[in-house]
Amino acid sequence: MTTSHYILKNASILGGAKSDLYIADGIIKEIAPNIIHEGATVFDINGSIALPGLVDLHTHVREPGREDSETVLSASKAGAKGGFTALSAMANTSPVADTAGVVEQVFRLGQEAGYLNVFPVGAVTQALEGKQLSEIGAMADSVARVRVFSDDGFCVSDPLVMRRALEYIKKFDGVIAQHAQEPRLTVGAQMNEGEVSAKLGLKGWPAIAEEAIIARDVLLADHVKSRLHICHVTTAGGVEIIRWAKARGIQVTAEVTPHHLLLTDDLAASYDPIFKVNPPLRTQKDVMALREALADGTIDIVATDHAPHSSESKDCEWQEAAFGMIGLETALSIVHKTMVQTKLMDWQLVADRLAIAPAKIGRYDAHTKGLTVGAPAHVTVINPEKSWIVDRDLVLSKSRNTPYHGIELPGVVTHTFFNGAATLIDSSVVSKVVN
Ligand SMILES: [Zn+2]
Repeated sequence: MTTSHYILKNASILGGAKSDLYIADGIIKEIAPNIIHEGATVFDINGSIALPGLVDLHTHVREPGREDSETVLSASKAGAKGGFTALSAMANTSPVADTAGVVEQVFRLGQEAGYLNVFPVGAVTQALEGKQLSEIGAMADSVARVRVFSDDGFCVSDPLVMRRALEYIKKFDGVIAQHAQEPRLTVGAQMNEGEVSAKLGLKGWPAIAEEAIIARDVLLADHVKSRLHICHVTTAGGVEIIRWAKARGIQVTAEVTPHHLLLTDDLAASYDPIFKVNPPLRTQKDVMALREALADGTIDIVATDHAPHSSESKDCEWQEAAFGMIGLETALSIVHKTMVQTKLMDWQLVADRLAIAPAKIGRYDAHTKGLTVGAPAHVTVINPEKSWIVDRDLVLSKSRNTPYHGIELPGVVTHTFFNGAATLIDSSVVSKVVN
């Protein structure tokens, strides 16, 4: 039971008509004009947009093992700041989340932090080695109720292992989230293979290394009638394959990251490893295909692939630097810039692609109901008229590897509510979540 209750006054619901939202006892109690309740804390948000709390299907929280770059607590705060009320914690921790013990540990750390739901992702294979299946059943049955399995960071490249994994997860309606990267085609690869890599003399990463795995895996998913999710799609060719698979009724879903909706491979010309990421930044043609696919639903969701790295791993030569960038705090602004300001999507579609659809893929039932009376109160408020300048020294993540430092982005997340508790008020993360 919550002791605090809130009225969000003058909220533009999903970018539409203005209304008040009454949040109490952890749920959305009422959506109507002119709500009055004795003792409620009132936030007049003056036409800002209310969205369902965002859900990130792809976050690297680094705990256990690399608490110098991120912890469950710091990722939770960064998430609240970005408007998130749930995140999927990727399995490439140390130890790897390939047993019930590790996923339960991560799940409990999320509960202790209290800012949002942390749903652990289970590894597909032991130690992410791509050989033996991990304790998939035990993780599914654990208190963490794992439904999403991924070796992310690595591709499940052996087709037989992939087939077995897809078969195994059917009995509890799980999904395999594939990091599509044919390893033999990407040995030593540093960036997208193309004109820019040739000019810079950096080893290229061909689009077909991603597309070959997507093609193989949609065929496997069709063959065994199981659920496949493609992580961070980056190429126009990958989009075409997914479009074809969906037209055939294959159970495939896909995600795109905010950075792949905006940034391109020519940024590597700076040799600044802030732009070194896996999968790599591609071309403008790919960016346009990804935007179109997200708008028409071929790509189902935006997922951050938030990948914190310490300065030692990033402030070095391109060749030595780690792959990855942080993204929780900037995701909604990048989507605003690339999809809403370009008129490709309205806020209703944003709510679907960043909250409802990812919750459905992960089977996170408490996050699938959106802004409806009686639904758990997971709510995000964004002021689309305001903008902000990203400052890597002010991020709540423990790592500073944002590619947007010094850049002005549109849309400021002002309030986040998780299970009826305020986690972000006037763009400040609360020091402790009060239920
Ligand atoms: Zn990945």
